[in-house]
Amino acid sequence: MKLYNTKTRQVEEFKPEKEGVVTMYACGPTVYDYTHIGHMRKYIGDDILRRTLSYIGYEVRHVMNITDVGHLTNDSDEGDDKFENKAKLEGKSVWDIATLYTDYFHESMTAANVLPPNVAEAKATDHISQMIDMVEKLLAKGHAYETASAIYFDTSTFPQYGSLSGQSLSEKELGAREDVVVDEDKKNPADFVLWFKRVGRFSNHTMHWPSPWGEGFPGWHIECSAMSMHYLGETIDIHTGGIDHIPVHHENEIAQSVCTTGHEFVKYWVHHAFLNVDGEKMSKSKNNFYTISDIEGHNINPLAMRVFALQTSYRKPINFTWDVLSSAQTQLKKLQMFASKKELGGKIIEKYNTDFVEALSDDLNTAKALAIVWEMVHSNEIRADKYITLLEFDKVLGLKLSEVPEFKITKEVKILLEKMSLAREQKDYGTSDKIREELEKLGYKVEQTSLGINLSPIL
Ligand code: AMP
Ligand code: ZN
Repeated sequence: MKLYNTKTRQVEEFKPEKEGVVTMYACGPTVYDYTHIGHMRKYIGDDILRRTLSYIGYEVRHVMNITDVGHLTNDSDEGDDKFENKAKLEGKSVWDIATLYTDYFHESMTAANVLPPNVAEAKATDHISQMIDMVEKLLAKGHAYETASAIYFDTSTFPQYGSLSGQSLSEKELGAREDVVVDEDKKNPADFVLWFKRVGRFSNHTMHWPSPWGEGFPGWHIECSAMSMHYLGETIDIHTGGIDHIPVHHENEIAQSVCTTGHEFVKYWVHHAFLNVDGEKMSKSKNNFYTISDIEGHNINPLAMRVFALQTSYRKPINFTWDVLSSAQTQLKKLQMFASKKELGGKIIEKYNTDFVEALSDDLNTAKALAIVWEMVHSNEIRADKYITLLEFDKVLGLKLSEVPEFKITKEVKILLEKMSLAREQKDYGTSDKIREELEKLGYKVEQTSLGINLSPIL
């Protein structure tokens, strides 16, 4: 398996720390608003990675966090708290906001058949003690300092800071925002918050916990390091996120983790490119987003999002349009149609399976893998073998093809078909249309072909 590693900016041979087992931590959603299909691209991407690793024989240990505290409107710990803002806006408690949007996230993931993490879906608010432990270690080792309002990580104690994004500390400092209120006691502009004290602008902050530094709440970045180590150990194989996380969130995770343990935090950093609308990132803040409910409202099966995502490399941006999503749905329907005629006794066609694995092993070349699926389906191989091979591929594709209902033409349907043929012969199109509607209600798509009436399942 070859994977692009953001750390080295190269496609590398993937070799996990422990043979046969992959530890994988995925940065999860900040649950203060609806999950949109931009997020879905990222989580479908993680899912394809995980399914591929399992397919080629690894045991994958997958953890994802749910950020329900500490994320400010600016990723560099400036601005307001996203949850407090939203709670005010909706007249709900911050806890209710987190529950509401976590549920929506789960619904979206289930609809897109994204496998839930198999080790833990870790809520930040359930792991405050692990975060406090880590902050204490960083303070004890001289990598953190306390001000009147917060505990900061001292970036000047970690010379490699910025290596993931290839930005030096001085470049970062130049880029730091001048327009927001900054803690005057902060030593370096790139220093980031490990723990916010419940003072000053946060003196009424709803979520707060006791700590050695008084009541407060964790900064956003510390949760991923603390929970990743808690569940998967001090060095993990893969950490994923969207490309927006590279310059701040992931730099910060590396700095605090390496300074806590004294050794490597992540072997392979995997970053997903954006799903854009009209060339701009789909995002909550730009209000240019669509959700799973919008997809269903357009009569599109959410599984079509998977085909849509598979068509492009996870490292390339995708421009979202309804037309492209509909054509992905057409592809999905064709595969479902193929799978609805179930077969027994087939065997996996090794030639195609080898090509499929080879494409995926090449830094997840999903577009090529999808082309191989079609080549196999259209080939002259025995249908039962093609059927079983398709179901095998679906372990990675995740299109639920084994759950497609069996395509059957019942006696009742045969009678209706005969009546329809007769009506058409007599040019009685009114009756013919009525029968068509009746058949559609029963789940059959009726098409008039040169060979007569063709029936297929409506899926
Ligand atoms: P958030 O809830 O904003 O923290 O985002 C959760 C994850 O979704 C992060 O890894 C983001 O990078 C990713 N993400 C957010 N918007 C998009 C988008 N438009 N396209 C792809 N990934 C995104
Ligand atoms: Zn994270």
